[in-house]
Amino acid sequence: MTTQELTGKVAVVTGGANGIGRATAKWLARRGAKVFIGDVNLLDENQQDFADLNISEQRCDVRIEADVQGLIEQAVRESGRLDILVNNAGIGMVKPITEVTEEEWDACMGVNLKGAFFGCKHAIRQMQRNGGGAIVNTASNAGLLPRQHDPVYSISKMGLVGMTKSLGLCHAKDNIRINAVCPGPVCETGMMNADLAQSNDPEAMVRGFINASPLAKANNRMITPEEVAETIGYLVSDAAQFVTGTMIAIDGGKSLGVSQS
Ligand code: NAD
Repeated sequence: MTTQELTGKVAVVTGGANGIGRATAKWLARRGAKVFIGDVNLLDENQQDFADLNISEQRCDVRIEADVQGLIEQAVRESGRLDILVNNAGIGMVKPITEVTEEEWDACMGVNLKGAFFGCKHAIRQMQRNGGGAIVNTASNAGLLPRQHDPVYSISKMGLVGMTKSLGLCHAKDNIRINAVCPGPVCETGMMNADLAQSNDPEAMVRGFINASPLAKANNRMITPEEVAETIGYLVSDAAQFVTGTMIAIDGGKSLGVSQS
């Protein structure tokens, strides 16, 4: 058995109907895990996509504690345990702080930060009963370095990085590992496609993303959802048995602070 074999493991992935979450759900299921997706927007096309995989989906709004608790309890009721949680649901917020309304602040913090709090709270309770588990939070490059164009998103992801470190420390004694991935711009996700659709010059936008990341530039392409899923998969697997409270940047070296001038 390899250390990335997940047969018999039970996983919950929030925001798993699209983008990075969908790629992660498939990665986990292909290695033998039973995967429960919770998402506000279930896509018809996934029924075909997931047909040969042990993945089930249910509607869940991570801003609502009862929804997240229900998702986790459903996984435990059907499969008897919970080993893995990926707090992946997220939304963007591209505005200067001077233009952000209270509702927009609450929406961004509600999904990106409070949703992960609810996930951690209810998953940790179950994992304590199991004798351990692994949680990965999908943060962002913006959780490592502030950005000028989306400060509220950055604040939410910095909070998620803080949650990862704090809870990683608190629950190591329970054999529960809590880590985060911090991707740079990822292609072919709902969030990225929406950003590109709003741009006057999407090609220039993609070129800008590629040029800002040394490895993206070297390979002349953006990071894919599947590449983020690989790192999440590593972090939840036994290969990362002694890894907790860490952030892995998946940004091709962008956060190393290479000067663009
Ligand atoms: P995506 O839009 O494809 O996926 C996000 C998923 O979250 C969607 O399926 C959406 O329906 C779901 N979602 C939104 N609000 C929800 C809610 N209230 N409750 C439950 N589900 C909800 O986008 P993605 O890029 O795959 O984003 C996944 C995560 O990756 C997010 O946390 C995002 O912040 C992070 N991220 C994305 C990028 C990128 O460039 N795409 C970069 C860094 C981090």
